[in-house]
Amino acid sequence: GRVAHFDSELLAEAETSDVVRARHEMERRLRHAIETGGLALHYQPVVALPGGQVTGVEALARWDDAELGVVPPDRFIPLAEQTGLIVDLGRWVLQTACREAAGWPAGPTGVAATVAVNVSAVQLAQRDFLDDVVRALADSGLAPERLCLEITETAAITDLGATAARLTQVRDLGVRLALDDFGAGHSALSLLRALPLDLVKIDRSFVERVASDTADAVLVRLVVEAAHSLGRRVLAEGVESDEQARQLIAMGCDAAQGWLFGKPEPASPALTERLSRRAV
Ligand code: C2E
Ligand code: CA
Ligand code: CA
Ligand code: CA
Repeated sequence: GRVAHFDSELLAEAETSDVVRARHEMERRLRHAIETGGLALHYQPVVALPGGQVTGVEALARWDDAELGVVPPDRFIPLAEQTGLIVDLGRWVLQTACREAAGWPAGPTGVAATVAVNVSAVQLAQRDFLDDVVRALADSGLAPERLCLEITETAAITDLGATAARLTQVRDLGVRLALDDFGAGHSALSLLRALPLDLVKIDRSFVERVASDTADAVLVRLVVEAAHSLGRRVLAEGVESDEQARQLIAMGCDAAQGWLFGKPEPASPALTERLSRRAV
């Protein structure tokens, strides 16, 4: 009765403070990692469909902490967003990705690989976000067309007018823009028109079922048609099987990413070599 109730409340409180303490510790260590170069970037190939030639990479943040071990981005990115650390973290990712990409050689056609960088809604809302992009390009010497910024619909939905205006400034620099995780959230088709996008990235959750679920296959086909009619290219995320790739090619997807084509890996001579052998 009463005692048991009291006990369970105490227990809940103890658990909560454990969670809070662990969170604080993780926040402290993440801040330390950002300040001391404890983060790394891995790069995942982006390929053109139907041929599968590598056209670029997406930069993905990695954190291997001395005490916490490998912390996945799905844990430390939300923490960084909630604590504001994402502003410094995001600036580091942008600077590092631009600097590394500036060193990649041009392919046979004279065009060098693009690098895609994830931008959080919190970062995009900063007044000096545009300055950060300008500075990353200037410091690295990377041609603006080789940088693609990926934003999610969350950023757009909060304040569509302000987001569109800000993204237009970024795009006027010559930087490319992609809408990430399309189909994962509320995903209004109207966003495809309201934002100055080059690329729409269809979320892995759709791609996963594209070969097995007719309803999802119909949806992907509709998104491809809508995007194309507005002059946007379409990339399918998380492609793991030949069967999925075949379906996505039949649906008219322009590009893909996924384990079938390559997992995220650290920058290395082998990666640079693969990027320089690009056909496009
Ligand atoms: P995202 O931007 O949608 O990135 C794609 C995620 O899917 C990556 O997870 C990638 O490793 C994973 N992936 C790629 N191909 C496949 C596949 O074929 N199968 C499966 N099962 N997964 C695949 P990752 O690296 O764990 O990143 C998770 C999320 O964390 C990213 O999702 C992105 O939202 C966020 N993130 C990562 N790095 C950054 C960053 O530098 N800044 C910001 N703001 N967010 C980041
Ligand atoms: Ca992304
Ligand atoms: Ca995505
Ligand atoms: Ca995602």
